Order: sequence, then C-alpha cells, then structure tokens
Amino acid sequence: MVSDQRVIYLDHAATTPARPEVVEAMLPYFHDRFGNPSSIYRIARESRKVVESARESVARALGAEPGEIYFTSGGTESDNWAIKGVAFANRKRGDHIITSAIEHHAVLYPTRYLAKQGFSVTFLPVDATGLADPGMLEDAITEKTTLISIMTANNEIGTIEPVREIGKIARDHGIPFHTDAVQAVGHIPLSVKDDNIDLLSLSAHKFNGPKGVGVLYIRKGTRIDPFLHGGAQERNRRAGTENLAGIVGLATALDFAVQSLPREMERQKRFRDRLIAGLLSSVPHSRLNGHPEKRLPGNVNISFEYVEGESILLSLDAYGICASTGSACTSGSLEPSHVLLAIGLTHEVAHGSLRLTLGEENTDEEIDTVLETVPGIIGKLRAMSPLYPGKEKECHV
Ligand SMILES: *Cc1c(COP(=O)(O)O)cnc(C)c1O
Repeated sequence: MVSDQRVIYLDHAATTPARPEVVEAMLPYFHDRFGNPSSIYRIARESRKVVESARESVARALGAEPGEIYFTSGGTESDNWAIKGVAFANRKRGDHIITSAIEHHAVLYPTRYLAKQGFSVTFLPVDATGLADPGMLEDAITEKTTLISIMTANNEIGTIEPVREIGKIARDHGIPFHTDAVQAVGHIPLSVKDDNIDLLSLSAHKFNGPKGVGVLYIRKGTRIDPFLHGGAQERNRRAGTENLAGIVGLATALDFAVQSLPREMERQKRFRDRLIAGLLSSVPHSRLNGHPEKRLPGNVNISFEYVEGESILLSLDAYGICASTGSACTSGSLEPSHVLLAIGLTHEVAHGSLRLTLGEENTDEEIDTVLETVPGIIGKLRAMSPLYPGKEKECHV
C-alpha cells in the first residue's frame, strides 16, 4: 500500500484510502471538465450540473433536501461553521451552548473559543461507556440556550450517542441541534429527518472519499451566519469556488458506502468482536473502552495497563501494523485524550490505550495477524516496565 512492505491498516478513524472508482470519477474534473460552475459557457454549465447532481445524491443518502446540503472543505470546517454560525446568528436571543465532554477537537475548540467571546458553554459529562444522558441534557437547557451539539459517534471509543432522543428534546425546546456525524456517515444508518437533526457535519475522507471536502447539512429555516465571506457560492452561504473534483469524489464515495453499508457493518462487527474478545482474553490487565454494544462496527479501543500507547504503536509499526492511541507524546502533549479521561480512566490507564479501526480492505488474515502479534508486544513492553506487578519476580529468575 505505502511501500513494498505489506501494511495492515487499522486506522480508518484517522483517514481511509480513496476507492479507485472514486479517483476515476474525479479525474476528468481536473482537466477536461474544469469549468467554474459560476461561469455561463457550456463547460461551466456542465460543472454546475455535476455539483447539483452530487448535492441531490448526498441529500438522498441523508434523507435531506438538496437545498439543505452545503459543500465545505471537510469535517473541521463544517463543525466550526455550525457552532460559530449558529451561536453568532442567535446571539441576541441567548448565549448558552450545550455540548459533550467527548467531542472531537473540531467541536471542542470552537466552543472554547466562544466561551472566550463571552458565551457560556455546558460540557455535558458522559458515563463510563461514553454515553451522554438525554435527561441530564434536558436539565441543562436554559432560556438562553441557542445550540446543542452532540456527536453521533465518538472517533476514539466508538460509542454511538442517543442522537434521535437528544434531537427530539432539542426540537421540543425549539433549540437547533447539531451533530458531528463524521465517524457515522457511511458507517451506520442515519437520517436527518428521523433523527431530528438540524445541522450535521460529514467528511469524505472518513468513508473512502478524498481529503479536503465535506458537507454541512443545514435544515431549512435554521438561523446561521456564513462562515466564509466572499463570493455567492452555495446560495450565498459558503463563499469560494467549488471543489469540483472533490465534490464528485464525495458523492461517489458516499453512494458506494451507503450501498455496501449493511454488508460492511456485519463484516466489520465480526472483525471487531474477534479483536475485542481475543485481546481481552489473551492480555491480562486489559479493558475495553467505550460501549460494548452501542458501538461503531469498526471501532476497537482497549487499554493495557503498565504500558505506553506510543510504545505499542512503534512496536506495531515494526510489523507494518498501523494503529492509534489516546496519548501522543510525540505531538508535544503529555496530556492523555480528553475522551478517555471523561469516561473515568486514570492518566496511567489512558496512556496505555490502543485504537484499532476497521475498513473495507481488512481481511480475516489481518485480524489473525493482529491477534498473534499484540499480546507478545504487550508482554515485552511490560517486561521492561518497572511498574508491572510480577516484574520483580521475573527479574530474579
Ligand atoms: C476526522 C474528524 C473530524 C475532522 O474532519 P476533517 O475532514 O479531517 O477536518 C471531525 N470530527 C470527527 C468526529 C472526526 O472523526
């Protein structure tokens, strides 16, 4: 995949490879069909047509109307737009925002920014499995609440939130409800109508589409300020020449993902459950993070006590296995993930977490390899750890 060495890629929550069919569909829009959708000659009108047909196809996949779909540069922009756009548009009515303690940084940091601007923000706690409590959320609502933002599914621990219930509460109180569905779209069934969603973020590179393109769904009638000011694109709400090839890639990838969703969900669940059961039974002092059932089909997140997540990743890398952890010392931060702390893990346990996220290319053989490799790696790392109980004994034999 990346080099001659065969790679076992288990980091699909970070990004996914674009499907060959997606790349194929995008290519003409870089050269032959490069027209600016806002111009008036024929090749431009063709570009306009292809953008609008992508919009229709995305709308169908979400249970939305085409006029409610806005193309953006990805999940981060969609989240920023939804949060700041709704907060500022409603500032005269209120200044209170409710979100959860386990949101992605693309939601967490914009809400922190708003707090600095004088907004008040409630960070709803979650339980030990990562679930937000709709009753607690309803209790947090005040006269001043103008936005509720709770993610559909968590990118680290895979917990699927009760979005439909939360959306119903928000709707009953007349408060706009935004959900970061970047990990959910293309991976679990979802409908903005049935789930009472007013704003939804998605990103193409999380479902085998290209990087740098996403969508913000905005329900008709939702008050929101533009985020990027400039040209009249996206019905005056999101300026900037459309990412033509990216939009085609996003729509094509979403079509594929939605078509293969039932089959792929079953397949990944099977791999996921094999990994969870296999690792928990073969490695002592290990625990599953996230909800055992309300969980993304492709998410495995396990903490191994007495080891460093980064050391596990480096050892796995030597076997060509790509994975992720909730602690990243190399990124200059010694703070473990805010998500793992929010579900009650101690710093020590949070530092020893391993996230494996599955995708379409993964095979049974790859799962076998991981199950054979990880226990040995953990054993070796623990043998070097002064903290590991039994270590002393081992030293003396
Ligand atoms: C990846 C991700 C994002 C950011 O999306 P980008 O397209 O990479 O900007 C936001 N939220 C969640 C939950 C994600 O997993």
